[in-house]
Order: sequence, then structure tokens, then C-alpha cells
Amino acid sequence: MSPIHFYNTRTRTKEVFRPLKNGEVGIYTCGPTVYGPMHIGNVRSQLFADLLRRFLVSEGFAVTHVINITDVGHLVSDADEGEDKMEVAAKREGETAGEIAGRYTELWRSDRRAVNCIEPEHNPKATEHIAEQIELGVKLEEGGYLYRIDDGVYFDIARFPRYTELAGLDLEGQAGAPRIEQVEGKRHPADFAIWKFADPDVRRLQEWDSPWGRGFPGWHLECSAMSSRYLGEHFDIHTGGIDLATVHHTNEVAQSECGFGVHPWVEYWLHNEFLDFGGEKMSKSKGNVKTLSDLAERGYDPLAFRYFFLQAHYRQQQTFNDESMAAAARGHSRLVALAADLRAVEGPGDPDQQAAHRAQFCEAMADDLNAPKALAVLWDVVRSGKLAPADQRDLLLDFDAVLGLDLAHAERPQESYDSDPRIDGLLEEREAARVGRDFATADRIRDELAAEGVELIDTPEGPRWRRT
Ligand code: AMP
Ligand code: ZN
Repeated sequence: MSPIHFYNTRTRTKEVFRPLKNGEVGIYTCGPTVYGPMHIGNVRSQLFADLLRRFLVSEGFAVTHVINITDVGHLVSDADEGEDKMEVAAKREGETAGEIAGRYTELWRSDRRAVNCIEPEHNPKATEHIAEQIELGVKLEEGGYLYRIDDGVYFDIARFPRYTELAGLDLEGQAGAPRIEQVEGKRHPADFAIWKFADPDVRRLQEWDSPWGRGFPGWHLECSAMSSRYLGEHFDIHTGGIDLATVHHTNEVAQSECGFGVHPWVEYWLHNEFLDFGGEKMSKSKGNVKTLSDLAERGYDPLAFRYFFLQAHYRQQQTFNDESMAAAARGHSRLVALAADLRAVEGPGDPDQQAAHRAQFCEAMADDLNAPKALAVLWDVVRSGKLAPADQRDLLLDFDAVLGLDLAHAERPQESYDSDPRIDGLLEEREAARVGRDFATADRIRDELAAEGVELIDTPEGPRWRRT
């Protein structure tokens, strides 16, 4: 078995993975703020954590995976200012924050199921762990890490010299300093709220009593409090998108190391890079938010998006556009068709013939989860002229337990074609030209259609087309 290596953001090196307890791994993943549907960038961060979990399970570890649900306290700006995202959504949609959270939590869960993510062992909600958050806040206060200003109780980063360690921050210089604006009275711009006071003039939907007064917890506090509740005060792996490292995760570390008296609090920090949209920032206001439902409307199976995800290493930026998604969908449907054929093969495989391929696959995944390489090993196996079909079948199904494309069940895709009056008309014209043996016209129409990205397909029912 190849030793497992992960790139650890905390040490900025690829390290051999050694769990704190033999054979067991605790993973904490920052989950969604449930004020809207998750976009496919968020889906990437879920798929990454799921791939990590599946791989560790395939290596024989007993995994406890915790993914939180943020249903309070995540303010519109990282500056501890502005409104709570849940409250904004509640006003926008004329519902209570609880209703909004319930609806989008369910949507998040069903989106995760659609891309075949395994249910985490724990899926705690911030609003159901207010007591744990207050308890950690009290510990921090007793340790002298907090101070009080008009709008809340803040963590004093000057009391924690390792504050910049996780993300290698340069708080004084320009480069690397997170852009956090000043809240009146903060001692340092990067000091962050542990507890925010409710404004007596503004009725909030979600507020609680605390030793500091009525209000609500700062966003970062929930992840420290809930991870320790389910994984203990010192655990193996924490994941999230790379954008979270400089503020959210840095603040989680500060609270946890000071509150629990541990260092390091988390052994391995794994961050996924962003899914980008070719330079275009995805935002709801621009109306270009891409969700799994948007993809489904365009005829894409959510598992084709999982296949798309597997084509890039998690620490590389991945560009999403029509062409890259269409190419992934073609690869995915070819693989599903091959899997359907291989599933029908009967009889036992020969472990000796399979061993070298298994080793290659494991080596790729053990090298900081190199999914594109692992996928290439899978393709080599299913295309191999040397392996017996029963061995191809066994390898395909075992590799897929890690990749998660559900190849044990995926149905051969129905061929789907597009339709559009103009292009349908051109197809008819081309057919007429062919019947009349006017091949020059037929070829010209074919080339013109190809130039606008239309692929012609001959079917038993006659010629059909689809966009490539
Ligand atoms: P949020 O709901 O915005 O707190 O984000 C949930 C998770 O998705 C976090 O781990 C983010 O870092 C991650 N994330 C947000 N946008 C993207 C993106 N475009 N690509 C990859 N991960 C993302
Ligand atoms: Zn978090």
C-alpha cells in the first residue's frame, strides 16, 4: 500500500498522513450557509470532501465525517458588519429564517445525494448548538482573549501570536492581508466577533440570551464548537474551499487553540481550489448562478458533473464552461455504457491479473488525491485489450467505490437530440439534397452546421442532431 500523502495548508507541504488514532479518522467539512441553493462551486467543495472520505474508507479507515449547517450568524460581509445572510433571505422570501433554513437544507441534502455523496455521520446545525458555542466563548473570556465593544464581544488576535500561521498571512503588509474593514472600536482590523449584540431597535428572527447579553454567535464560533462536540478538541482533517483559509479557518484556529489549549488543533488542513467560470464571477445578482438544477435543465446528469469534477486535481482551479461540461458529459456517458456491458459479465475475476492496476489506482489517490490520474487508470482498465472482462468488471466497480460515479447502477444513457425549427429545416434540406445526389449542397450544409457546433447523427429513424 502506498503511504498516503496530503498537501497540508498549515505546513505548506505534502505530508505523510498519520491519523491520531490508529485506523480512525475524524474529518470536519465547512458546510453550506442555507440561505439559497448551492452553486456548482459549492458542489465542488462537497465532492472533494466526499472523495477524501471514500478514499480513506477504501484504505480501511473508520471515518467520522462532520459537515455543519450554518443557519445563523454568517453576515453578508466578512467584516462582522452588515446583515445576517439568513435574515436577508427571510425578508426577501417572506418566510421565517427557520423556514428558509429548512428548505435549503433539504435542497442541499438532495443535491448531495444527486452527486452520490455519502451521508456524513453528523450534520449539526449552528442554531441547535448555541449552548456549546457560548461555552467556548466563556472559556475564551476566562482566558482573557476577549474584549467587549458596543456591538459585541470580540477576540483579541494580539493575544494569539500564531494567528497568521495557518494561511501564512501578512497582516501588516499589503500582500496576503485579508481585506477586513474596521468595525468601530475594534483593536485590530482582524479581531472578530464571538458574540454580536442584538440591536434593540431591530427585531431579529434569531437571537438568544448569553452571559454577554442578548444576541447571536459570530459565524466562526460554530465550527470550533461543533467539531469539538463530535470529533473532540484535537482531530485529524479539516476541509473547505481555499477562500475560507484566510479568515474563517484562521479564526477557527485562534478560538480553538486558545479555548481548548491545544496546538495544533487540526493536524491536516485540506483546501479545494475554486471552480471558476472563465473570469466571470458567479453571483445571484448577475443571474448566472449555476446549480445542479440548471445543469439538469440542460440535460446533464448530476453524475456527469461529478465526472467533470474528477477531471481536475482538487488543488487546481477548474474552469467550467459549456464546452468543458459537454466534453465531460460525453466521457461520462461512454463510461456508463461500458460499465453497463461489464456488469453483465459473469464469472470470477483473477486477483493476480488485477493487482498491478489496483496498485496504480491507489498510488494515484494516495498522492494527494490525484483523481485525474486515478480516472486515467480506470480508462486504461476498461479499454485494455489484455484484461479479461471479469477483471475489468471487478476493477471498475472497486475503483468506483472511491470515485463515486455509481457505475454499479448507472443506466446506459438514453440518446438525446436537440430540436430547433431552423436547424431541423436545414437537416431536411440536406436530406433532400442527398436523395437528389446533390452532394455538394449536402456537404455545405453539414459544414455550416458543424461550424456552429451542431453534430449530425444518423439514427434508424433518420438524421438527428445535437449541440456539441
Ligand atoms: P458558502 O456556502 O459560500 O459558505 O460556501 C460553502 C463552501 O463552498 C465553502 O467551503 C467554500 O469555500 C466553497 N466554495 C464557494 N465557492 C466556490 C467555488 N467557486 N469553487 C469551489 N468551492 C467554492
Ligand atoms: Zn467552518
